[in-house]
Amino acid sequence: MSGIYLHIPFCKQACSYCDFYFVTQTSEREHFVQRLVDDIKSYKNTRFVEEKVNSIYFGGGTPSLLAPAQVEQVLDALNEVFDVASRETTLEMNPDDVTSSFLADIKSLGIDRASMGVQSFDPELLQFMNRAHNSEEARQCLELLSQSDFDTFTVDLIYGNPNQSVKQLKKDVKTLLSFAPPHISAYSLTIEPKTRLGKQVELGRIAPPEDDKVAEHFDIINQLFSSEGIERYEVSNYSVPGKEAIHNSSYWEHENYLGFGPGAHSFWWEDAAERWENEQDLRKYLRGEDHPQKEKLALEQLAEERLMMGLRTRKGVAFEEMESRYNYIFGDRQHAYLKRLVKEQKAMVDDRIILTDKGIKIADAIILDLVTLQ
Ligand code: SF4
Repeated sequence: MSGIYLHIPFCKQACSYCDFYFVTQTSEREHFVQRLVDDIKSYKNTRFVEEKVNSIYFGGGTPSLLAPAQVEQVLDALNEVFDVASRETTLEMNPDDVTSSFLADIKSLGIDRASMGVQSFDPELLQFMNRAHNSEEARQCLELLSQSDFDTFTVDLIYGNPNQSVKQLKKDVKTLLSFAPPHISAYSLTIEPKTRLGKQVELGRIAPPEDDKVAEHFDIINQLFSSEGIERYEVSNYSVPGKEAIHNSSYWEHENYLGFGPGAHSFWWEDAAERWENEQDLRKYLRGEDHPQKEKLALEQLAEERLMMGLRTRKGVAFEEMESRYNYIFGDRQHAYLKRLVKEQKAMVDDRIILTDKGIKIADAIILDLVTLQ
């Protein structure tokens, strides 16, 4: 089963923390959609269309800057070329674009999951992150969603802002929970070098958030979500039972996916495994001149990736899967390390390895140790 990702690279303005590929010049939207449709159609009769499409994800950038008619053109092209049996079709949207008619229109086209980029309800934090929406719009979009026909939706929340107090965080979480979201993606703010925040840190104007503070925020979030029956199933993803995202899981489980649009990634594993990233260049994409380099992935590299992604999830990673799919057998030193993690209550180990709440907070360090002990 495969997933399809569509990168819609337009944004109204640059959020201060964002290092995704996007452009703030939005006048090329129509041209882009035509090119995207042609790009999708160029896959006709290729080996990539033999697998059923399990999930479709409009990400970005800001997909809600497209008109419903443009979304429809893209979906029509996908249906024409691929065997679409999508169990989940998601469209990311920003609060300031959402109206009840927009929601009704895209729902009628087959978008069955809305992903709302709220990030915070706090005016100061929204301004700090240079989001295009205000606090009122953040609430309003969730009200509109709850009155709409969408059965499921997800909301993005950012925590661990350098200036964010625990009081502000709790207020944000409580406001969010009052809308009973079936799914939440909660990310700790990471400061990337090429972003506006990265530059401010470099100039000494702001200090990056402290690890202790981020860990405290993580605990608060876990506890407040859990008290409403919303459980973490991956480091940054939480849901009520049965509402886990299908599309994201396909990345973690090395299922095949194709990415369309500038900067989109693809992964395909038939006999050999390959990955490629479209060039982050809208101009070239519009001219059909981007030629991504395919990278062949060795089994060992895939095994390490699977450990990295799988150990961030609540399902963890099964020894049997590592052996049969990746020919990866844990050595004595790794088993000894795992025993220590169990003793320290950082992991549970039987036929699979699952990191506990204590372990997940230092998942990156644990995974690195585990991989280097091989
Ligand atoms: S709207 Fe999303 S993609 Fe666009 S700049 Fe902000 S965070 Fe980045």
